[in-house]
Amino acid sequence: MNDPEPRRIILHVDMDSFYASVEVRKNPSLKGRPVVVGADPKGGRGRGVVSTCSYEARSYGIHSAMPISEAYNRCPHAVFLPPDYLLYNTVSSRIMGILHYHSQRVEQVSIDEAYLDMSHVSGFPEALEVARHIKTTVLEETGLTCSIGMAASKVVAKIASDYEKPDGLTVIIPGEEESFLAPLPVYTVPGIGRKTSEELSRHGIQTIGDLASVDVQVLIGWFGRGAVTLHHLARGIDGREVECCDSSKSISREVTFEEDTDDREGIMNVLDRMAGDLGQALKAEGYSFRTLTVKVRFQGFETRTKAVTVPRPSRNMRDAAVLARRLIGQMLDERRVRLVGIRLSGLARQDTRQTALSDFTS
Ligand SMILES: [Mg+2]
Repeated sequence: MNDPEPRRIILHVDMDSFYASVEVRKNPSLKGRPVVVGADPKGGRGRGVVSTCSYEARSYGIHSAMPISEAYNRCPHAVFLPPDYLLYNTVSSRIMGILHYHSQRVEQVSIDEAYLDMSHVSGFPEALEVARHIKTTVLEETGLTCSIGMAASKVVAKIASDYEKPDGLTVIIPGEEESFLAPLPVYTVPGIGRKTSEELSRHGIQTIGDLASVDVQVLIGWFGRGAVTLHHLARGIDGREVECCDSSKSISREVTFEEDTDDREGIMNVLDRMAGDLGQALKAEGYSFRTLTVKVRFQGFETRTKAVTVPRPSRNMRDAAVLARRLIGQMLDERRVRLVGIRLSGLARQDTRQTALSDFTS
């Protein structure tokens, strides 16, 4: 690497099948059984998707974001559980606390996943000791396993954490990025979804090595300018910093109705419940929010959103619920509704004054 930047050491810590593992931890009789956390399968007629599933469930081909009805058909005798977000948030806070103990710079990407900048230690061997210590401490304090990837960039650390799941620890030292990445399938690169990997496959590109060896101009011809980033990532080049106070962070909840509905009061009640749930999640993580977005998907899949930003960070969810009602009221028409959701973004950990409803600008 002829990188003029000072050497960086980045850990990517990712809990193993987090929701399902927490459920097994809560109820040890589930151990070894296929556990699926997500929507109610309703005997195969349920709507909504799988949030997380245990490794035993994965052996039936079940995975996150799969329709719950399909998961049920693949494994009707699995244990299907509704998500207990409050519990997951509590456990998540303990894990993030452990991570913050080891680095000033922690970027929490989701409830069970974070990057740590470890560039302050003497080198990769010392960082490896820290990584081992984190795995042991997380296991002792929560009973859960995590997988850690360690590398000089975020993208390689992330791919490495996924390499030996579950309970993995994969270290890619500087200079070995390309040889590590080359044989892996292209879809292991974050950001390459099924569509892109199918399109790459049509061009004869199966592995990250194939992708790295394509002339970047050819890639731009296929995918547009975004291909430059893609090409860099395929070679393990990623200058993104660990963002310790990421204002782009958000949390959200959404509910798919059993049947498309035009029951306004029912829709409003669902919004209230989601706002309450988000309030608990904010509180558990010590966050306040700046922007509230309401989403509605109508029969026929047309989706609309409306957002408001408050002048000062807030965690007043009672006012937020009133506001969410108002926003959705502006979007509803005579059509039936399939799904509603609320997203809170611009999250920050800081002391906040109470924000009054009049502070919202809609
Ligand atoms: Mg995970």
